[in-house]
Amino acid sequence: MTVSDKVKLKPGDTIGILGGGQLGRMLAMAAARLGLKCQVFSPDPDSPAFDVVLNATCAEYADVEALELFANDVDVITYEFENVPAATAMVLAARRPVLPAQKILETTQDRLIEKNFVKRLGIDTADYADVSSAETLQSAIARIGLPAVIKTRRFGYDGKGQAIIREGDDPVRIWEELGTKSAILEAFVSFEREISVIAARSADGHVECYDVTENEHRDHILKFSRVPAAISDELAAQARAVAEKIAHALDYVGVLAVELFVVAGNGGPHVLVNEVAPRVHNSGHWTLDGASVSQFEQHIRAIAGWPLGKPIRHGQVTMTNLIGDDILDYEQWLTVPGATVHLYGKGTPRPGRKMGHVTEVAPASKK
Ligand code: AMP
Repeated sequence: MTVSDKVKLKPGDTIGILGGGQLGRMLAMAAARLGLKCQVFSPDPDSPAFDVVLNATCAEYADVEALELFANDVDVITYEFENVPAATAMVLAARRPVLPAQKILETTQDRLIEKNFVKRLGIDTADYADVSSAETLQSAIARIGLPAVIKTRRFGYDGKGQAIIREGDDPVRIWEELGTKSAILEAFVSFEREISVIAARSADGHVECYDVTENEHRDHILKFSRVPAAISDELAAQARAVAEKIAHALDYVGVLAVELFVVAGNGGPHVLVNEVAPRVHNSGHWTLDGASVSQFEQHIRAIAGWPLGKPIRHGQVTMTNLIGDDILDYEQWLTVPGATVHLYGKGTPRPGRKMGHVTEVAPASKK
């Protein structure tokens, strides 16, 4: 019997959420609609998720006493970010079920371990190599070629902790600037498009995937998601099969996102996995207004031990992220016919900060 088999919440029970950002906030709102309470744990007193729950714990992730008290107050624990420290997860898992399971974090917190795991499943990724010094970077470049992308193994997001190395660049300088001892070098992928699959898996192994999302980034940050992705049905099925395989292999419970590159090939386009996110994901925000059950609700259902919903898409959907000063246009967005506006209640709009998003659904043209 695994941890997840034991969880069966009733309406009125409490879910503990680690992390107080917009993902935690939207998880808590989805839980409330299902009659479940949430308690949010975050070290940041300005956490947007605190605004939507009655009970919050504002403490450091290393504060064992606070973690224990938090665990005592809740029935199951989940998280909205993948960099939950291992020691934090261990303290919590000793007291309450943590879903997705703690061991999944070990795979997804480290790009090298994650890529090796995906490869072992027979799923394609860009070529990559382990890099731990300027010398190993030189030999990785010799094997993989240029251009290539160097990425820190841990704690990278929205393009942070990575750099492109081109012909003529000085790899030693780039290595020193990266300021890490553990990285991977990845072949640069000339992709046709970027897509993602949001998948939910329940404790009994049932998987529901959303329609494949096409993603457009600006300055490494997601700007638009469009659904359905402009790819063939066969490729979409392939992408969903990849996500399903990963979810089963991780014995996953909850929602996960798989980011993929679509690349041209002799036998037609195919997909390469870029990254696996063990959580609800920005490219799944469209599901709040564009599908019968949102990614947030699916995650809550999965970790509560409840049946997953069958996600039915309402039409052609565009999600636009409001990043930094984009938020200043919120009143204009409020007047756009058919647009649904989500504001995260964050204070200062810094460049690159995700402040809200807007969903537009065109119901007529279902694919
Ligand atoms: P990541 O942090 O790995 O999700 O990368 C952020 C973004 O950088 C991706 O969504 C891509 O747009 C771009 N990127 C990452 N890896 C590569 C690659 N190997 N080749 C080309 N572009 C990449």
